[in-house]
Amino acid sequence: MANFNIDHTKDNTYDVIVIGSGMSGGWAAKEFTEKGLKTLVIERGREVKHNVNYPTTNMNPWEFKHRGRIPEDVKKENPIASKCYVFNEDAEHFVSKDKEHPYVQEKPFDWIKGYQTGGKSLLWARQTQRLSDFDFEGPARDGFAVDWPIRYKDLAPWYSHVEKFVGIAGNLDGLDILPDGEFLPGMELNCLEKYFKSSVEKNYTNRHVISGRCAHITENRDIFAQQGRGQCQYRNLCQRGCPFGGYFSSNSSTLPWAMKTGNLTMIHNSVVESILYDEQKEKATGVMVIDDETKEVKEYFASIIFVNAGALNTNLILLNSKSSRFQEGLGNDNGLLGKYVAFHNYRARMSGEFDGYADKHTTGREPTSAYLPRFRNVEKQETNFLRGYASGFTARRQILQDTSGIGNNLKEGLLNPTYGVWQVGSHMMGETIPKEENQVSLDREKKDDWGIPLLKIDIAYDDNDEKMIKDYHEQFTQMFEEAGFTNIRTYDSKQAPGLDIHEMGGVRMGKDPKTSLLNKWNQLHSCQNVYVTDGACMTSTATQNPSLTYMALTARACDHAIKASKKG
Ligand SMILES: Cc1cc2nc3c(=O)[nH]c(=O)nc-3n(C[C@H](O)[C@H](O)[C@H](O)COP(=O)(O)OP(=O)(O)OC[C@H]3O[C@@H](n4cnc5c(N)ncnc54)[C@H](O)[C@@H]3O)c2cc1C
Ligand code: SF4
Repeated sequence: MANFNIDHTKDNTYDVIVIGSGMSGGWAAKEFTEKGLKTLVIERGREVKHNVNYPTTNMNPWEFKHRGRIPEDVKKENPIASKCYVFNEDAEHFVSKDKEHPYVQEKPFDWIKGYQTGGKSLLWARQTQRLSDFDFEGPARDGFAVDWPIRYKDLAPWYSHVEKFVGIAGNLDGLDILPDGEFLPGMELNCLEKYFKSSVEKNYTNRHVISGRCAHITENRDIFAQQGRGQCQYRNLCQRGCPFGGYFSSNSSTLPWAMKTGNLTMIHNSVVESILYDEQKEKATGVMVIDDETKEVKEYFASIIFVNAGALNTNLILLNSKSSRFQEGLGNDNGLLGKYVAFHNYRARMSGEFDGYADKHTTGREPTSAYLPRFRNVEKQETNFLRGYASGFTARRQILQDTSGIGNNLKEGLLNPTYGVWQVGSHMMGETIPKEENQVSLDREKKDDWGIPLLKIDIAYDDNDEKMIKDYHEQFTQMFEEAGFTNIRTYDSKQAPGLDIHEMGGVRMGKDPKTSLLNKWNQLHSCQNVYVTDGACMTSTATQNPSLTYMALTARACDHAIKASKKG
């Protein structure tokens, strides 16, 4: 697009533009600014400064107007957001409201969004595991999706790079399926979790119960002090924003770090409408931005553009970036942009009780739980479904406090609780298979308040997902019975896709431009100065919580972009 205002162009020109300030965008900002590149981060949401804009972080339960709950009228106005477990009185201000950001559901899909500085990194559950070669080789070996253009060895140094800065608590478990990382001391399992671990590991050679690896600082180190972050205090109120910086968020870590370099410019309340493409230069030149409030349109320019708007919004921006060269969206020569979207299947749960350890109970709070890495179809295909599932496991003792009475009686009742039976629970995190028909596209008629077409989401479970749920219930019933648990119950929440908040794909990486959008460095095959390093780039989903992989892919792609730009 021609731009005749030379001064305006010069003022609005940077080395790099990063779209989105969340988990992955924060990493792009850190990596580029550290290396001296003038970087503009464009964020559609409002500014949330670490420790300045965490309004509820130090509030006591009795200080909340609705005792922490969401009033029914607010729930009614937000039927989708209110399904998310962090949509409570203490954190609902970090979850985007349904009415403000509509989308079209061809099939039911619960899209959870956090439009603000830091994106969803403020809200996440901080579970972090590396993918292994069982995951990177999976699509080629099991014959689904396209082959990943990278293997574990390509990403391993970047996982290390990210982990050392983020701070990951975990143990060296020595499992091929879940490679070890650069860990801080892991959090301890409680007595019943340890008991379940010994029961499972006695009965199966390929099943393991480990402490959930999580992005919490459990040991002070210089690198965290330099970020102004301290050790986790086990408050378990992370979704409010942590005053200690005990868990990783872009707000507490990468963004202030980038700001300190003097090379970062951040603009908020600025919605990226599209990426600008120059037909003569055959590359992207910048972005078109709409002011959230005034609706004023501005253009910003850079020679490198990183798209980190969160998987589905990244798809939307690329689909909406049309030119005569790319009539169906930027980089979309093969018509596959927006297709092969996948997610995690979180529908299945288990519960049970344990009649033992009567002399023991849990105290305090722990911001992680036990984790069972995937054990199905790892070395060989052994079930009637493809791939497998990881799962969480928790054991807690019910606390029974007598809240009747007043004055001293009440105080005594609260201070001397009795304990009920031990309760155990598990939830499944299943891999879904990317399929062409699971896709997002632009609605032809409906537009949002900024005149941008609404995203139409057409995604559903399939038979593979149903079979996996059945298997999880069977296998966990067996493991619970072997451990002597009673009152074992299986649940299928039947929840729509989306609530897992691990949406991935649509702009997948691959070796062949005919079947993928991005190359092995996360560059669009046909517009190589545009990189996509959030969940949209994922070729397959694996079973691991994905954000650590987005961060590692981002750091690796930044390194590539910096080297490529030095070469001119
Ligand atoms: C309750 C909850 C629990 C979770 N638990 C885990 C977990 O345990 N482990 C894990 O790995 N993951 C977890 N996740 C998922 C994790 O938060 C996401 O994977 C991660 O934040 C994605 O990073 P991102 O950079 O792609 O997107 P985000 O962090 O969402 O950031 C995207 C940013 O882009 C901005 N943006 C969007 N569109 C535009 C536009 N057009 N113009 C400008 N800016 C735009 C958004 O406002 C946002 O700030 C959880 C999420 C939630 C909500
Ligand atoms: S559990 Fe740790 S990280 Fe979470 S709010 Fe408490 S101190 Fe912060």
